[in-house]
Amino acid sequence: MTKGNINVSVENIFPLIKKFLYSDHEIFLRELISNATDATLKLKHLTSIGESKSEYGNPVIEVKIDKKGKKLHIIDQGLGMSADEVEKYINQVAFSGAEEFLDKYKDSAKDSGIIGHFGLGFYSAFMVAEKVEIITKSHTDAPAAHWTCDGSPEFTLEASDRTQRGTEIILHIAEDSTEFLEENRISELLSKYNKFMPVPIKFGTKEIDDPEFTPKVTKGEDGKEITEPQKKITVDNIINNPNPAWTKQPTELEDADYKSFYRELYPAQFEEPLFHIHLNVDYPFNLTGILYFPKMTNDLNMQKDKIQLYQNQVYVTDNVEGIVPEFLTMLRGVIDSPDIPLNVSRSYLQADGAVKKISSYITRKVADKLKSLFNENREDFEQKWDDIKIVIEYGMLSEDKFFEKADAFALYPTVDGKFYTYDELFNKIKDTQTDKDGKLVILYASNKDTQHSYIESAKAKGYEVLMLDSPIVSHLIQKLESSKENISFARVDGDHINNLIKKDETAISKLSEEENATLETLLKEVIPQEKFSVQLEASDSDASPFIITQPEFMRRMKE
Ligand code: ADP
Ligand code: MG
Repeated sequence: MTKGNINVSVENIFPLIKKFLYSDHEIFLRELISNATDATLKLKHLTSIGESKSEYGNPVIEVKIDKKGKKLHIIDQGLGMSADEVEKYINQVAFSGAEEFLDKYKDSAKDSGIIGHFGLGFYSAFMVAEKVEIITKSHTDAPAAHWTCDGSPEFTLEASDRTQRGTEIILHIAEDSTEFLEENRISELLSKYNKFMPVPIKFGTKEIDDPEFTPKVTKGEDGKEITEPQKKITVDNIINNPNPAWTKQPTELEDADYKSFYRELYPAQFEEPLFHIHLNVDYPFNLTGILYFPKMTNDLNMQKDKIQLYQNQVYVTDNVEGIVPEFLTMLRGVIDSPDIPLNVSRSYLQADGAVKKISSYITRKVADKLKSLFNENREDFEQKWDDIKIVIEYGMLSEDKFFEKADAFALYPTVDGKFYTYDELFNKIKDTQTDKDGKLVILYASNKDTQHSYIESAKAKGYEVLMLDSPIVSHLIQKLESSKENISFARVDGDHINNLIKKDETAISKLSEEENATLETLLKEVIPQEKFSVQLEASDSDASPFIITQPEFMRRMKE
């Protein structure tokens, strides 16, 4: 038996860890399961390159509650540790064995998915435990070791009779943390943090229908069919999917696979996503993930179901602010990157070069996807427009790169249900809708009901009227006016419409010139001239005989 002091410079680091290391005590479980996963993946790597004689097999990580003993066990079948390794890796706070491993096996292990790197994760156990034991047997011939520490800098290390390869961590749960002895609480944590980790995680057992058993159907006395009761079997309750969709290649996946992964991510979500974007880069940074465009509705689930950020399949957070451009935070899905610095403030994140690159990569991928969806099936894209326009318009406003790319797919719907791209619209109206300075005037309506007569009157003159009704439309208009050359927008009930050079002057008024003059004088008397202007219509359509408009600047002032 060895006794010694844990190698730290501060007198007692544990109270510090408990208070400050992580604000969320619950992450201790994520950290310990990450270590168990690393131990398993390291062994996998060593056996694959012939550096371990051990048989890899089908290792499982087990989480077990001992309510009576007030203990929580995390057991793995990974590479284990010798007593020397425990001294080296555990007793040296802030020395990361994960980093050391990656350094040693640089090239061959770079895709091994090893999680740890700060060398602090293990000590998060002391946030919830008053005493921690490690019983571990290395994959080598080294004898098993038993380490115990009660949260003071003193530890004991002795021999153990464990023969099975791997490590068992035993947490003696502290009085103030007994919630972590509740099955429901642990279940909740496992499904939050560990749902997609790469090594199977067992938590208890469950009953399922015996797949080998087909119930017999017999006829009862009354002639009714009686089905024999289904035979049940007890199996391990594996809480995770070790091979989630985003870790696969897009070519391996069908549309249905993406949809079923969406349900896996958001089990409470009934609405199907509109489409997905598979992210996959390894240079100049590592990033995988799947983003989904949901139907943009006003339901409250919108707020709840957010993009989740993972690091090597370990859930980190659903606050992706700073990593994903703001206009895309309305999407759902998963982003997984080992290159996002996590334990740092958000403002630092926004300034980080790698993170900036990630954000602009995501913007570009989304723009590319929208473009290809538009090109592949325009009709379908038009149908989805109402559900996706808010994201696209918001993106056009907030990201200049996206604004440029959006010309390829942003749509401008008309009051008649047609959809134009900007170029199409431009070509359609460039000869018919200009003012005397040759400026293009784009007419639009924002409400089909209240602006009905104005819309009809403009249509009767052969003008195209757009239907722009999203909440940010006035900002979008300003953006377009300042970015595109020589254009202005005019709402159908604004007075700009009067500045349009009329192409078709042949329409004849139903009123005589004299009647026209009388009507005009009359109207001008009753309508306040400083607020509105009156135009008599020369038109043979069913449109109104006259229109009252408001100066555009006055209208915009009110918005
Ligand atoms: P990190 O995971 O960032 O390296 P930790 O504090 O979480 O730091 O763990 C420290 C080291 O202890 C690990 O790198 C590893 O070498 C060792 N270790 C911890 N848990 C286990 C385990 N279950 N099996 C084998 N080694 C482990
Ligand atoms: Mg760790």
